[in-house]
Amino acid sequence: MLGQMQEFGLRVPRLIDHAAREHGRREIVSRWADGSETRTDWAGVHRDARRLAQALERMGVKPGDRVATLAMNHHRHLVAWYGVIGMGGVVHTINPRLFDDQLVYIGNHAEDRVLLYDKMFEPVVERLRDQWTTITHCICFDDLGPDGFEAVIGREDGDYRWVEGDEQKACLLCYTSGTTGNPKGVLYSHRSTLIHAMAEVQPDVFELASRSVALPIVPMFHAVCWGLPFAGAAVGCKFVFSAVNDAGVLCDLMNREKVTHSAGVPTVWLAMFQHIDATGKQPEHLQVVTIGGSAAPRFMIERIMKMGIRVNHAWGMTETSPIGTIGALPPGWEDMSFDEQVDLVVRQGRVPFGIEMRIVDDDGVILPRDGEQSGRLQVRGPWVMQRYFREEGDALTLDGWFDTGDVAILHPDGTMQITDRSKDVIKSGGEWISSVELENAAVGCPGVAEAAAIGVRHPKWDERPVLLVVRKPDSKVGEDAIRDHLAQHVAKWWLPDAILFVDALPHTATGKLLKTEIRKQYRDFRLE
Ligand code: ADP
Repeated sequence: MLGQMQEFGLRVPRLIDHAAREHGRREIVSRWADGSETRTDWAGVHRDARRLAQALERMGVKPGDRVATLAMNHHRHLVAWYGVIGMGGVVHTINPRLFDDQLVYIGNHAEDRVLLYDKMFEPVVERLRDQWTTITHCICFDDLGPDGFEAVIGREDGDYRWVEGDEQKACLLCYTSGTTGNPKGVLYSHRSTLIHAMAEVQPDVFELASRSVALPIVPMFHAVCWGLPFAGAAVGCKFVFSAVNDAGVLCDLMNREKVTHSAGVPTVWLAMFQHIDATGKQPEHLQVVTIGGSAAPRFMIERIMKMGIRVNHAWGMTETSPIGTIGALPPGWEDMSFDEQVDLVVRQGRVPFGIEMRIVDDDGVILPRDGEQSGRLQVRGPWVMQRYFREEGDALTLDGWFDTGDVAILHPDGTMQITDRSKDVIKSGGEWISSVELENAAVGCPGVAEAAAIGVRHPKWDERPVLLVVRKPDSKVGEDAIRDHLAQHVAKWWLPDAILFVDALPHTATGKLLKTEIRKQYRDFRLE
């Protein structure tokens, strides 16, 4: 027997319709690269999205076609997401930090038809335009002339009805940065995006409400801005966007607009600390900061918590839309000591309803949630990817789970703790050493700006850890001080066999350590 409830497809335009109808006057503020600011609201975004949909149809864009964006965070980028998706198109968010050959590859692989870009990326567009074989129109978001974004949508009246269709149709495409080989595309559906947005507005996820003022520092091109543009529409919060990620600009903006919620990768908060130390100014209204993308180091969590701000430590990946786990406060939180609280926040949190997770050993045997054994982390759920864009087969285990490539411990209380990427663990004498833990312990040592731990071939132990350290400007911190510091945080046999000082370390397009490159550089490094 079938249920007798309404057919109400889980389509993304429902979000912007809702935000405009129920929270139409809630503001959306954009701070542009040139320092200027624009203010609109959810009703304005709704109107402009419909005008963009009309303009795209006039250019010949059809449902299912890909429209790329090469842009930072601002309301026009938000308009582009809702406008493209509303006319049945697929938004392809391009990460401008990719290398040229990767940018050319993904533009052609996605078969983008139109490119919407920020003026600051004009050099990239000029350099690569001829190599993108399918792009017919390039429109600049912040060109206020007759060919710019505002003029293009300004020629339309906004009298437009969203394209209806199957909720399983694609709406967004995002490529992973790909530390090896070509980037791979993750193609989200209306349904997965909407369910993910609904999951994110649970109090135990982003704690977002209509009274929240959110400033996502995570760029809209990085793992769908962690879903915030959709979750924000679901609750009708105020958004504050900045097209530059300078800590001083962000801090000032946060205080002027009374930002309560923010989200970004750990390096963003490092820069904020430097700003606070140099100027004495700090964000005054923040209540919750979500940190993810890489492990949030302990000293960072402690410092932010001491500012009276809740740290919401999240784990996820492009393939998981991206929320996998997030640091909801457990029962009894208020009765814990500060150190106990920090111990908990250092872990990557728990799954929200919708995600299931497990850890398995190298033979695929499921391991217990005992807080001790670590294994390969696998997940499944309605917003987890099944297959990469244009790949032949599914990217799942035989029994339907997605192997994340991360190594984790599951604790009896349901919290998950990432110990490493499976490719990055250092295998010493048959035992595993977590490169992430070594790195996080190292950056807690005064004078250390950044650290990378890699396994280097060893005649006896197979591999042993070598630590590469970038000193903070003016710091003279030496090997002994770092070794003493590490000894307080990790087992003795984990201590690196060599500590080498370097000027800089290579990073991926999403700001993570490019371990493959570092390993390549030190392939011939010899340990006694
Ligand atoms: P990329 O394109 O760089 O792979 P993703 O954001 O998809 O970008 O990267 C996902 C990976 O980032 C995860 O598989 C995990 O290794 C790492 N990661 C994300 N969040 C955390 C976290 N809180 N702690 C540790 N690692 C994390």
